[in-house]
Amino acid sequence: MLVDNHGRTINYLRLAVTDKCNLRCFYCMPEDGLQWLSREALMTYEEMLHICTMLVGMGIEKIRITGGEPFARKDTMQLLTALSKLNGLRELTLTTNGVLTAPLVPELKKIGIRSVNLSLDTLDRQRFLTITRRDELDKVMDTLQQLLHHGIEVKLNAVVMEGKNIEDIIPLVALTKELPVSVRFIEEMPFNGDGNQHSGINWNHVRILQTIQEVYPGIQKIPDALYSTSHNYQVPGHNGSVGIIAAYTRSFCGTCNRIRITPEGMLKMCLYDNGVFNIKDMARKGASNDMLAEAVTAAIQHRAVDGWEADRNRPEKINIHESMATIGG
Ligand code: SAM
Ligand code: SF4
Repeated sequence: MLVDNHGRTINYLRLAVTDKCNLRCFYCMPEDGLQWLSREALMTYEEMLHICTMLVGMGIEKIRITGGEPFARKDTMQLLTALSKLNGLRELTLTTNGVLTAPLVPELKKIGIRSVNLSLDTLDRQRFLTITRRDELDKVMDTLQQLLHHGIEVKLNAVVMEGKNIEDIIPLVALTKELPVSVRFIEEMPFNGDGNQHSGINWNHVRILQTIQEVYPGIQKIPDALYSTSHNYQVPGHNGSVGIIAAYTRSFCGTCNRIRITPEGMLKMCLYDNGVFNIKDMARKGASNDMLAEAVTAAIQHRAVDGWEADRNRPEKINIHESMATIGG
């Protein structure tokens, strides 16, 4: 079992398998995309499987595959299939934009994926185009239908942005009336990859909740799952629920159970740190599993208490060119 220097059990890995994406969400990356990682810099399928196997042996029980867009990488389904067979891994899941996902849903079901996070910032085609710079809403909605049809639990992620999708907050809550989905509203974070400094947020968790309460005054707090990053609510009589993720306000750090690995193999102890060491590079230089495990354990003994401390400890402040696609969300 992995326990950090603040007594938090670490049992969850978020693995970003690629920085590439078929959308260009303006809050994540510039219109021209990023300076994509070279093939050499990316972890190979074998390296990812090796590192995950080792970390599961150390106490990681849940792995989320993310990116970039996971399915922009050709061998992602192969990786998921191999991971689904790992002894000791209790939960395998993924976050996807849903553009290429619909035809893959039966296979996801077959390998035992029980829940998927699907990003959906708006239900309006024009606003989807403005936000993601691609006209792909129909494919995302098809993915949503396929997931529900196959009995896979769905969490819909919506980043809340002034001037972009505020008018979608209530329609997204309304979706939970019939659909058994959890709609999670996320505070916008400063990782848009375009070099613009982020000067704080207009829509924090308090304002998002107040906006929902104006239309749904009866909305009730429901229990949050262990390690949940969202504060969860339900409108009485609705099938689904509503979550609010204070990703910028960072109110969930006290129960943080997660570590991250970027597509080039950088191990991160916090969304807001610079990364502690490159585990892929260390393995490529010939480090044994024992050496890798020792380095991971040592890093876990030096975790920042919260995202604010991790941010302060960075040698340089938030790298303004950093994109959520290279962190994995
Ligand atoms: N491409 C996949 C997707 O969009 O679902 C997976 C990777 S994406 C980086 C993971 C999550 O990060 C998405 O739900 C996305 O909305 C969220 N995200 C990206 N940039 C963000 C930002 N600047 N602030 C808050 N959330 C962000
Ligand atoms: Fe792509 Fe996801 Fe970033 Fe949007 S949020 S650009 S879908 S990686």
